[in-house]
Amino acid sequence: MLVCTVRIGAAFPRKIFKYMWNSVIGQSRAKEILQRAIVTNKIAHAYCFWGAEGIGKDALALEFARVTNCYHPIILGNTAEACGECKSCVQHSHLQHPNISLIFSLPTGKAGGSDDESPLLRLSDEQITTIQEQLAVKAQNHYHNISIPSATQIKIVSIRDVKKTIQLSQAQQGRRVVIISEADEMTTEAANAFLKTLEEPHSNVTLIITTSRKEMLPQTILSRCQQINLEPLNDDELTQALIERNELNEQTARLTASLAQGSYSKAIELLNEDTQQLRNDIVDVLRSALRNVTYRQEVVHSIDSVIGNTDRKDVEKMLMLLMVWLRDASVIAATQSTDSVINIDQKPVLERFAEVFRDKNFVHAIEHIEQAIRAIRQNAQVQLTMITLLISLRRIFLA
Ligand SMILES: [Zn+2]
Repeated sequence: MLVCTVRIGAAFPRKIFKYMWNSVIGQSRAKEILQRAIVTNKIAHAYCFWGAEGIGKDALALEFARVTNCYHPIILGNTAEACGECKSCVQHSHLQHPNISLIFSLPTGKAGGSDDESPLLRLSDEQITTIQEQLAVKAQNHYHNISIPSATQIKIVSIRDVKKTIQLSQAQQGRRVVIISEADEMTTEAANAFLKTLEEPHSNVTLIITTSRKEMLPQTILSRCQQINLEPLNDDELTQALIERNELNEQTARLTASLAQGSYSKAIELLNEDTQQLRNDIVDVLRSALRNVTYRQEVVHSIDSVIGNTDRKDVEKMLMLLMVWLRDASVIAATQSTDSVINIDQKPVLERFAEVFRDKNFVHAIEHIEQAIRAIRQNAQVQLTMITLLISLRRIFLA
């Protein structure tokens, strides 16, 4: 479906970053490749941006679309920036650009209708509203993962729509950029139709597919695209982005980044939860396991009160927080310095812990936590896994 068919009002002002490629966090290698292609006028007919979820594949594709359509791009050496001010850049900032199409999974909608009509015509008013809302969020935050109830597939009607707009776009100014987000969600029929589109390149059209499950895409499609692999973001890049974009203090940003496994979207999800509380709870469980002589009853009790009805994902998160906390303690024990500590608010507690347990095998302890995380991911019983872990940790630290 075409983004330009969905109006997004001015109620969603978007912070314009002065340097537009900076709106994409990290990914300097991919940015360089794309800018060089723009500067040397060697833009590929099709790209595949692949890598883990939430690391900026759509954001990169949207930025590429902005630069290649900007009326006054700023070209300096091998860099090409959009001006951010021309009509094209403004249309882009609201995701209302006539040259830019964003395709994603849509709900099936009602049956019937012609195969040639827009996929939107089959949807209910309510579904259209949801799509508008989701696009408004995407316009503000290119890292947003568009989520529409019961939309799991990109169907052939959407790809037919792409074909039509490409044919119509030959006389248009600028470059038509079609972005197929999470392209692995194409049905077999849609993928076959898309393959035909790939086989008929047009000089002023670029097709970009993004995917976090490249292995699900047919080789015939992949082999016709220039593939650009995006790496997970490192903790510093994520921390910096969270401070600048989400106005977090450094402590919360570092802690959140340490859990997000290189994904900005995941970091944002984590912000909705009380991460510090989860950390304090699990650290209390560990400390009670190490403190008491009659620890078993105490440990079972504290696990019960902390884990309670928490779901598996939260337990996993708690264990990752415990791992980061112990890593901090081990760094202090080894270096006598708190400079690189992530849990900044816990420095005095960490220093005391490091002092008491300085000769213990922290590496071994962290390995046990990693094992427990794996077990929980593989559906092991949560309480039993936790008790086993705490007994092991007790052995390591009280040895
Ligand atoms: Zn511009």
